[in-house]
Amino acid sequence: MTRAIAAVESEERQRRNGHRSAVVWLTGLSAAGKSTIARGVEAALFARGVQVYGLDGDDLRRGLCRDLGFSPEDRSENLRRVGELAAVLADAGLVVIASFISPYRRERATAGAAAVPAPFIEVFVDCPLDECVRRDPKGLYLRALSGELPEFTGVSAPYEPPERPQIHLRTDRLPVVQSVDLVVQYLEQTGILTR
Ligand code: ADP
Repeated sequence: MTRAIAAVESEERQRRNGHRSAVVWLTGLSAAGKSTIARGVEAALFARGVQVYGLDGDDLRRGLCRDLGFSPEDRSENLRRVGELAAVLADAGLVVIASFISPYRRERATAGAAAVPAPFIEVFVDCPLDECVRRDPKGLYLRALSGELPEFTGVSAPYEPPERPQIHLRTDRLPVVQSVDLVVQYLEQTGILTR
């Protein structure tokens, strides 16, 4: 995302903020832990003075994307919009924590391309399906497995795991705080945040 005419350049905003901007993109099955980890990262970064903002699939589907369903075409348009939104926020100098199931590699790549020149950090929030079904915090798997929810990722719609994610979190093995720490550490190691 680059603006043709900008009174204030993204670089200047980042300098004043004291950190780089980035899009941290959490992908994984429903109930894998994306929102939980995103909330932890957002809180940790906010506490240390970082300009940070969390974007969540469920929230945006109530507003910006409320005209869209879960067919492959609608999922693709959903991801295009939220990828552009994340890119605008990163251009405004923020570290964006985006939690979207985003099941297709191609659409995650589109979101990554939209973010340029901001770094796009793909975080695979990885949890085996049977554990997600066991957690089922919103009762969605119950409904999907009974056929009430069609095109449900992992049950009746595909999920394409990332091939080379920057961060891979096995949330059936890692406690939430440790997942959060690994994301924060990555942001420090890559110079997006200073310690
Ligand atoms: P998603 O955003 O991926 O749909 P949520 O974060 O909404 O997932 O739900 C994940 C659920 O799993 C939450 O109720 C969370 O408390 C629970 N959970 C249990 N253990 C873990 C863990 N180690 N990491 C992440 N979430 C966990």
